Amino acid sequence: MKSYLEQLIESVENTVDTSVMPQTKQSIQKAKEVLNDPKFILQKGVRSLVDEDARVGYKSKTDSFFGYKVEYVMIPEERIITAVGVQNGAYVDGTEFEKLYQQTKASGVEITEAYGDKAYFRKSILDILKEDEVQAIIPVSETAYRVDESRFKYNKDSDQWFCEHGNYTWTQRKITVKDGRQFLEYKFEKEICRDCPNRKECINGSSIAKRLILGLNAPEFYEYSQRAKTPEFLEKYKKRASHEWKNGEMKRFHGLGRARGYGLKSMATQAKLTALAVNLKRIASLVSSLNNIINCYFINSYRMIITYSNCKKSAA
Ligand code: SF4
Repeated sequence: MKSYLEQLIESVENTVDTSVMPQTKQSIQKAKEVLNDPKFILQKGVRSLVDEDARVGYKSKTDSFFGYKVEYVMIPEERIITAVGVQNGAYVDGTEFEKLYQQTKASGVEITEAYGDKAYFRKSILDILKEDEVQAIIPVSETAYRVDESRFKYNKDSDQWFCEHGNYTWTQRKITVKDGRQFLEYKFEKEICRDCPNRKECINGSSIAKRLILGLNAPEFYEYSQRAKTPEFLEKYKKRASHEWKNGEMKRFHGLGRARGYGLKSMATQAKLTALAVNLKRIASLVSSLNNIINCYFINSYRMIITYSNCKKSAA
């Protein structure tokens, strides 16, 4: 693609007198800057002169798209959207969590539980919810928390980890690695490790005692991880599926799968008007199906829930 664009630019420069066409000259100059930027080959930064706000994003390691992300909050039971955020495709889900969360709170909804997928399992989000005593129904992300719980258990009161052979950690310290990242290092009792039949599989290198190197938030995340395995959590998490239904409705029936214009502003307008349209449809449906909708709405309001997800867009 890059060589094709370079050839195209060369061909235009050879056939067009850009000295009398300042706009063409400007566009060529801009195109050259984009192509010469090292980010271009990495699929980052500006990739289109028509839409300079759009970026490449990824649905998975191999599935990419070019455009924008729409992130919204919805009450899953009533399926009413309470806040909408639009970012370029490279946006990391959950970065604007607090803004959307505060907008939802400001709308008068009493939030008792917050649902999200693994992308929302991060300390900054969990802390906001904890402070407001909102229960986080968010599955544990392996990126944020990596502990083999089939082999190691944690005791919060004593801040100790226990292994399957009954050994336990007796020291803990914070360590900093070469790139500046910090971890917690827990050390097991060496005399028990020395004679352990599992030491070959458990310990790398020549050290006698097992060292458990964990992220700084691992002790706190252990609690979330335990809760995420309970039947109650798994049952509640099913409610998050309603978010996928809403994604489908907005994309299939209201064209949110494709940007109608160029630029972030246009995309934001499209996404917000779409949310407005599906909310109006939903309100009409609730009103027509329930004679006593007003009563029901207020009766239900104490257990309203927010849900997070994203829906991706392709730039036109
Ligand atoms: S090597 Fe040490 S930490 Fe590992 S299983 Fe054996 S006793 Fe436990």
